[in-house]
Amino acid sequence: MSFLFPAVTDGPGERVALRFGDRSLTYAQLAAAAGAVAARVRGHERVAVWAAPAPETAVGVVGTLLAGAAAVPLNPRSGEKELGHILGDSAPSLVLAAAGDALPAALAGRERVDVDVRASGPVPEDHADDGDPALIVYTSGTTGPPKGAVIPRRAVAATLDALAGAWQWTGEDVLVHGLPLFHVHGLVLGVLGPLRRGGAVRHLGRFTTEGVARELNGGATMLFGVPTMYHRIAEALPGDPELVKALAGARLLVSGSAALPVHDHERIAAATGRRVIERYGMTETLMNTSVRVDGEVRAGSVGLPLPGVELRLVDEDGTEITAYDGETVGEIQVRGPNLFTGYLNRPDATAAAFTADGFFRTGDMAVRDGDGQIRLVGRKATDLIKSGGYKIGAGEIENALLEHPGVREAAVTGEPDPDLGERIVAWIVPANPQSPPGTEELAGHVARRLAPHKRPRVVRVLDALPRNDMGKIMKRALRHG
Ligand code: ATP
Ligand code: MG
Repeated sequence: MSFLFPAVTDGPGERVALRFGDRSLTYAQLAAAAGAVAARVRGHERVAVWAAPAPETAVGVVGTLLAGAAAVPLNPRSGEKELGHILGDSAPSLVLAAAGDALPAALAGRERVDVDVRASGPVPEDHADDGDPALIVYTSGTTGPPKGAVIPRRAVAATLDALAGAWQWTGEDVLVHGLPLFHVHGLVLGVLGPLRRGGAVRHLGRFTTEGVARELNGGATMLFGVPTMYHRIAEALPGDPELVKALAGARLLVSGSAALPVHDHERIAAATGRRVIERYGMTETLMNTSVRVDGEVRAGSVGLPLPGVELRLVDEDGTEITAYDGETVGEIQVRGPNLFTGYLNRPDATAAAFTADGFFRTGDMAVRDGDGQIRLVGRKATDLIKSGGYKIGAGEIENALLEHPGVREAAVTGEPDPDLGERIVAWIVPANPQSPPGTEELAGHVARRLAPHKRPRVVRVLDALPRNDMGKIMKRALRHG
């Protein structure tokens, strides 16, 4: 029996496991195709997988894991330079891709294995240790060049089983999936998660609100998305009764990878009666916290530490913050079976990321509410603005700006100011490009909702915010123009 995928090797054979568009695979077909991949991968240590949104990606990764090797998912849309960096760093000895995939020059000369979903091979015996690497996933590159996080098999199992408890996630669940497959969210939660439970994944190829409505109204039970998807859903709900029905009937709606704006959370709740659950994780740690399906759901909260995860907040001196006051900001540190083992080829970065007692420094800042739920304030590196002697989190200002009818998207940064140390800058995409709200208007709007020192001093209007493939706002790009 497979340690990671008992349902694939010994499970509900005739049940549909995967559906991408009009192509679907039962568990028996998945086991056979992954077995064929495993036979080719056996003996290799690290295997790159061309992670297009296709069944071959899932089969390639599962086959690699069944063979006891580590999979390195590649973003099919990354440029030659990024691909070159990842290949040079991870040095895979094989590349798995669907037969028709044309691979870019950066992959030329590497041994290629075509993944065939109609092939059949026996699943090899599982000899791997739970500390062996399962995946090498590159971080999103939001704060610097992507780093390869080495994720052991036990972390994949631990995080998926902890989420199963928090979300009452079972083999009966059918997931609607519209995310890419080369990050933790889309791959570990979105594909390996349902397969570990014995449930099903329906991938939309490209996310559309129509696709979400169709699948949730057609038997799917849960949706995992990033905030940009829930924003599009919130915008579409008023004119789309099918979408309202779909969300109202879903068992579980989950958001992660970036903060879900309070405004979108509340619009969805008002239109459908359903509250989106937030969970918080990282490439390096997989999932750390989540709101529980049977717990209280509050906008802006990422819930409680998951079972098995030790989580603490520390101040700048590394002293633990014990207050549950919803106010005292500290950096989140975590320890547990969900953690990665280190950054590939980066011993210095790995050493710097851990404390002497083995906690991982997340770089994320948060407060803890009276009931222990965690609220993220932002990232230490980009979201904490030191202005006029105050430490101000960008997130609450962004949430306040998004409540203004003239603001469609917002990002807040700090920039040097001779007087204040840093001044607060609001970057906005206006609802109506012809008449964007001005600085005075937005400063007044924020000062009425938050404390006056949190008002933006400068407002810059953009056509769009710079975002990566997960919809995360690239604040580095804003700051450096
Ligand atoms: P890099 O580490 O390369 O700069 P990245 O940190 O964006 O990129 P990921 O590992 O994909 O790469 O993202 C993890 C980060 O995403 C977390 O540290 C946190 O800042 C953010 N995040 C994840 N979930 C949430 C959430 N629910 N709310 C707010 N932020 C979140
Ligand atoms: Mg990071």
